[in-house]
Amino acid sequence: MRSQACDAAAGKEQPMARVLVTGGAGFLGSHLCETLVAQGHEVLCVDNFFTGRRQNVAHLTSNPAFELMRHDVTYPLHVEVDRIYNFACPASPIHYQFDPVQTTKTSVHGAINMLGLAKRLKARILQASTSEVYGDPEEHPQTESYWGRVNTIGPRACYDEGKRCAETLFFDYHRQHGLEIKVARIFNTYGPRMHPNDGRVVSNFIVQALQGSDITIYGDGSQTRSFCYVDDLIDGVVRLMDSPGELTGPLNLGNPDEYSMLQLAESVLRLVGGKSKLVHMPLPTDDPRQRRPDIRLAQTHLNWQPRIGLEEGLTRTIEYFRSRLTES
Ligand code: NAD
Ligand code: UDP
Ligand code: UDP
Repeated sequence: MRSQACDAAAGKEQPMARVLVTGGAGFLGSHLCETLVAQGHEVLCVDNFFTGRRQNVAHLTSNPAFELMRHDVTYPLHVEVDRIYNFACPASPIHYQFDPVQTTKTSVHGAINMLGLAKRLKARILQASTSEVYGDPEEHPQTESYWGRVNTIGPRACYDEGKRCAETLFFDYHRQHGLEIKVARIFNTYGPRMHPNDGRVVSNFIVQALQGSDITIYGDGSQTRSFCYVDDLIDGVVRLMDSPGELTGPLNLGNPDEYSMLQLAESVLRLVGGKSKLVHMPLPTDDPRQRRPDIRLAQTHLNWQPRIGLEEGLTRTIEYFRSRLTES
């Protein structure tokens, strides 16, 4: 089923594959589809458009190597592909808490269906897991061997436990059926095509600063996150998929530069300018206090590390939101 395509950019032959990207019309999925098409693969993008948008992939639809299909991964899917990237799942707290039962179904039933598909096709499959599997961590920075601290009954559990169960399913299909699996634990990632109203901190602060409204700091703003620019993250994900079969992960992918939310707000305000004031709002339930990936495994096994610092990444993201806000 594989043929050879010339990777003009690299000037070398690489195997061309038919690749399924679930959640391909979302923020990360759309960048992934773009990268895979540019590498010469045929891409089938499957999405139910819950949080994704057709516009995110509109620039790809005229390319014969790209196909867009509306489908909900909680239902079986019968297609023929060589590789599967399972990215379908709302990722921002306000979106995944909007219909928490559907969120868990998307992670769990979606994983079962995509693993069943991979099993029938003997296809390699990669799961977009998350740093949320570590919950509100007692170990800092988080290594892959840390088992995490998640509240099973809190408002974040539909996402965190769904993603934890999906990891379990991936490893059981691997052990029980010999499936080739890859599990990426993705830490907070930002960049163009983030949903402007999804409530995530980077998009919130940028949109607020551009509109001159108050910057909403939840709690005292001392909680930390480590922000990875989307191009770096996609590079890591593709390297993991292309890595030798025995490398299953889980592997942390993220940028280890850690910032408090107050520091992030100051950086955004400095880069955007304007007169926005900082206002404090209540801290959401179970909000993790600190988060930073230990990426030594990815550095060693994928020869990967993020290259784009916060200032450069924010500048590119601000440009995107500036043009989107003037459009609408
Ligand atoms: P996103 O909300 O932009 O993308 C998710 C996509 O999945 C959307 O296009 C949505 O419409 C689609 N989707 C949701 N439920 C579906 C279903 N049942 N069937 C088919 N499609 C469905 O979010 P994102 O930031 O691009 O996240 C993509 C993946 O990466 C998610 O699995 C998320 O958990 C994971 N992740 C993201 C981050 C991050 O910081 N962005 C961090 C960790 C993990
Ligand atoms: N599945 C799918 N596409 C396929 C093959 C399977 O969506 O091409 C779904 C199937 O409907 C099932 C799930 O994947 O619900 C798990 O399949 P598996 O073969 O592992 O288990 P079983 O069918 O025995 O329950
Ligand atoms: N946050 C904030 N103001 C906002 C949105 C979020 O202070 O307008 C905080 C939030 O409480 C959390 C951090 O920013 O501590 C990251 O939130 P996000 O929802 O982006 O990601 P997650 O909590 O899932 O890592």
